[in-house]
Amino acid sequence: MATGQPTPPASLTNALGQPLTIDPAPLELKPHLSLSQGVLAMAAAAKTYALVVQEGRVLMGVLTYANVATATVYATPFDQSSLADWMTPLSSLGPRPDLHPVDGPPNPLACAPPYRAIVNGAGHWVGIITPEGICGLLESSESSACTVELNACQMQAVSLQEQQERLSLALKGAQMGTLDWDIRADMLVISEELQQLLALPPGEYDGHYQAIFKHIHPEDQRRVDRILQAATQHPQRCDIEFRILLPDGSVRWLLFQGQVFQTPNASPRLVGVTLDVSAQKQAEAALKLQAQRERLVSEIAQRIRNLLDLDSILEQTVIAVHEFIEADRVIILQCSPDMSGKVIQESCSPAYPAMMGWAVRDPWSVDEKFLAHYRQGRGMAVANVAEQGLSENQLMFLDYFHIQAEIVVPLLQEQTLWGLLIAHQCSTPRQWTTADVRLLQSLSTQVGIAVQQAKLHRQLTLANQSLRRMAYLDGLTQVANRRRFEQHLENEWRRMAREKMPLSIILGDIDYFKGFNDLYGHQAGDNCLRLVARTLNHAAKRPGDLVARYGGEEFVVILPNTDLKGAETVAEAIRCSVRDRHISHQGSAIDKIVTMSLGVASCIPTADNSMTNLLKQADEALYAAKAGGRDQVRLAPALP
Ligand code: GH3
Ligand code: MG
Ligand code: MG
Repeated sequence: MATGQPTPPASLTNALGQPLTIDPAPLELKPHLSLSQGVLAMAAAAKTYALVVQEGRVLMGVLTYANVATATVYATPFDQSSLADWMTPLSSLGPRPDLHPVDGPPNPLACAPPYRAIVNGAGHWVGIITPEGICGLLESSESSACTVELNACQMQAVSLQEQQERLSLALKGAQMGTLDWDIRADMLVISEELQQLLALPPGEYDGHYQAIFKHIHPEDQRRVDRILQAATQHPQRCDIEFRILLPDGSVRWLLFQGQVFQTPNASPRLVGVTLDVSAQKQAEAALKLQAQRERLVSEIAQRIRNLLDLDSILEQTVIAVHEFIEADRVIILQCSPDMSGKVIQESCSPAYPAMMGWAVRDPWSVDEKFLAHYRQGRGMAVANVAEQGLSENQLMFLDYFHIQAEIVVPLLQEQTLWGLLIAHQCSTPRQWTTADVRLLQSLSTQVGIAVQQAKLHRQLTLANQSLRRMAYLDGLTQVANRRRFEQHLENEWRRMAREKMPLSIILGDIDYFKGFNDLYGHQAGDNCLRLVARTLNHAAKRPGDLVARYGGEEFVVILPNTDLKGAETVAEAIRCSVRDRHISHQGSAIDKIVTMSLGVASCIPTADNSMTNLLKQADEALYAAKAGGRDQVRLAPALP
């Protein structure tokens, strides 16, 4: 040997005689490398250890996965720690008398370079041959196994710690509190998050159920208690929503979801999580309110559809709005073409002055600048009228009616501004909600439809009235026609029968009317008929009296509650009135003016006589008048 250095032993065994080998290619790493670089290099070289060597290959220590595990336990950031920090230094490696060279005494000085790494059958590092002898951590194969087990434990601890950390971060992130209640011992462990959710004052919580229970909203306490009782008696899942009263008097909604766990020989435990569901509850409440309002609108709409009379529709609307949005006053202001307005409906709390009937000429309500806005179907909500920069006059007007806040929505009818639906808050300014405004807007649409509907209804009623009138009127003379006469006679006949009162009939016929037509023409004849009809109408004007055109130039008068004598007077008055008209009639054989002959009959209607008979009697009396020389009144013989 040129250098004179001894050669390393050919083979080695441990104390149990198991063969060891010298690693021909040990992994050497520089001490300043980071722990993560070290682990990566070991993994790349498929080594479970690395020799940490300084410049000049001076051995400083050994790094194993045991060192890596220890660093993990201490939560060391791998990027910021060097191998020198975590390796086992050479100084702490003791002599290894348990390792024996098999062929002859060891000659440590014979090592070149001045150390060799000894590995066991599994490739794990067990010792180092240095010039001073064999050194290393004293490890039998059993102790190696222990180390491996220990490392596994450490790794498990690390992973457990990591899991715990993850879970705790997740609970924190979800703002979820945890609870573990040993029911029998009444030991309740709650997380920091739950303490915050329950708004427990610091230091107050004493680990018992009561400390939590007393913070539950009084209205929810019984229910919570009942559910918990049931859950502990029959171990089961339980979901409880309950409210916590916060120190500022507000309420927080919490949801607890948990389960009672019962294991043999152990006290039952209720374990679960709690989270804040206030936002969800608020959203639910808002949705519920919205649904309620929609129901109200459809109810009112239904009511409005069923009403045809506009006043009732508007009255229903103001009452409904007043009740539902709890405004102090709700009015409907009808706009005139000059854009002044008149309050035509109102529902007002008794504490405030009524506006009903008020003509609002103040420009505040129908100011030009708002008109365009309203005409587009848009409303407005004012939370505080005092902050609107209004004129002194306008403010005085509002002040007179105590108006502090208002919502105004237009009532449009066929694109024109028919009126305004207005809600007032008088007690205080009021921040109206979108739902308040939306309610008024929905109703205003319904009212707009109703206004239109009512207008059509009014037109229809008038048309019907006119049709009815036409159906019962004689077109030429505008007195009742034959149909109306028959209807009226029947009614009065029955009525007089009930009342046992006399009913009289006068039949009148113009004398020599054919001659009148022949002489003056048909048109003049028509005019004469009109004039005579008017004359008859004047003569019989007591309630129940009816003048009708019986046909051609014949007229009939029904006189209820009138006996033969009374009817004769009326007939005579008619005859004279016709004469008094002085309608020239050169064709008459009895005079130079138009005259009329009249027959009168009367009876108290009974089962024994009939309307037909009464008419026949009157006709006969008329015939007698004609036969008697015309221009006269004749009476029928009195009926029994
Ligand atoms: P008397 O004194 O006997 O009643 O004689 P008169 O000519 O009035 O009787 P008659 O029954 O012979 O004639 C009735 C006339 O009335 C016949 C017809 O020309 C006329 N007349 C009936 N209806 C109308 C009408 O609607 N307009 C006009 N202009 N004339 C009518
Ligand atoms: Mg006639
Ligand atoms: Mg005639």
